[in-house]
Amino acid sequence: MNNPPLITAPSGWQLARRAARMNPSVIREILKVTERPGIISFAGGLPSSKTFPVAEFEAACAKVLRDDPAAALQYAASEGFGPLREMVAENLRVQAASAGLTWQVDPAQVLITTGSQQGLDLVAKVLVDAGSRILVESPTYLGAVMAFTPMEPEVVSVASDDDGVDMEALRQAAVAAGTGEAARFLYVLPNFQNPTGRTMSEARRAALSTEAARLGLPLIEDNPYGDLWFDAPPPAPLTARNPDGCIYLGSFSKVLAPGLRLGFVVAPKAVYPKLLQAKQAADLHSPGFNQRMIAEVMKDGFLDRHVPTIRALYKSQRDAMLEALAQHFPASNSQPDQSLTWNTPAGGMFLWARLPKDMSAVDLLPFAVDKGVAFVPGAPFYADHGDPRTLRLSFVTPSVAEIHQGVAALAAAIKERQAA
Ligand code: PMP
Repeated sequence: MNNPPLITAPSGWQLARRAARMNPSVIREILKVTERPGIISFAGGLPSSKTFPVAEFEAACAKVLRDDPAAALQYAASEGFGPLREMVAENLRVQAASAGLTWQVDPAQVLITTGSQQGLDLVAKVLVDAGSRILVESPTYLGAVMAFTPMEPEVVSVASDDDGVDMEALRQAAVAAGTGEAARFLYVLPNFQNPTGRTMSEARRAALSTEAARLGLPLIEDNPYGDLWFDAPPPAPLTARNPDGCIYLGSFSKVLAPGLRLGFVVAPKAVYPKLLQAKQAADLHSPGFNQRMIAEVMKDGFLDRHVPTIRALYKSQRDAMLEALAQHFPASNSQPDQSLTWNTPAGGMFLWARLPKDMSAVDLLPFAVDKGVAFVPGAPFYADHGDPRTLRLSFVTPSVAEIHQGVAALAAAIKERQAA
């Protein structure tokens, strides 16, 4: 990526070089345009608040305060609350086993973080030097690139298709052509990716796992959406296939509530102590009170009852969006250059679409907002040159009626621009 222009420091303040690399999120800037009352938004990245288990949190909050208020409100261990780390380890073991793999996660390898976003920040601090080569999918999660860039890496996009990263492109990107420097890691989102909604196939996971091990290329596997599958669970995580070669990031944001700001990292023993030291320096520990509440809510298998309700809701929302798209863009698949095209995500919160030839999602957005609908253009999600025709549509927060209305408005905006 190109270096951003240096920030002009206000008098007397000499800003760090890394500050010049921090930019307002392009998406947040775009979203400002869309925050007009009455706009139907497919732009947000928020889970549906209908899924938050409010009564369970209320009961857990009271119980945590009643049972051990002194510990719940005191400073606590940087690694996280022991029972929560054990539940995380056990859940991952069970999930891998149901996909036919043995993944013995030691709770001692689990670090509770302040959202998985902090996991990304810690990974960057521990693994990235200025100039380090790091690999990302194309496109990728913008928040990860924002967490990595202050460490001044060279971010290299690896071509990716509907099944995930392209193996040949990966082989070529893993080592820098001129210097021979090996990439520090590949950051991957195998399940219901943000922004594309796509899922890495079993064959690609197997190939990537083997190839990364052969190349000695560590993998950073980010999996905040993996539990939100619609018809069948996704294939087993990459980390379960080679735990010593991967760092796994998980989150409670999409299965319980993002406001608690809790996630976790599972790291090999060779890296864990450094992540822990970085965590200590960052915030000592994630809120102990929140960790106890989540552990209280999760005990007795609550997620096994709760997560299926989120899956059912999001699946019906996805179906409504697919139905509306098919209705308003009947030519889609036969005429990809004349019409909008889109994928069918098997889980998660996002659908990825592509505009007709010669149209740009950034240019379309103000016209769509005028018609009453907002989306996020896809280009900012690419670490290199983005495809200007792409856009991300979130289907989880609007109602079914709003989804139909919003897709109709999108179709009207596209037709108008095509005619212009
Ligand atoms: N990774 C990805 C791919 C995400 O989409 C998000 C949230 N939008 C995060 C990480 C961070 O989530 P959290 O910090 O809430 O766990």
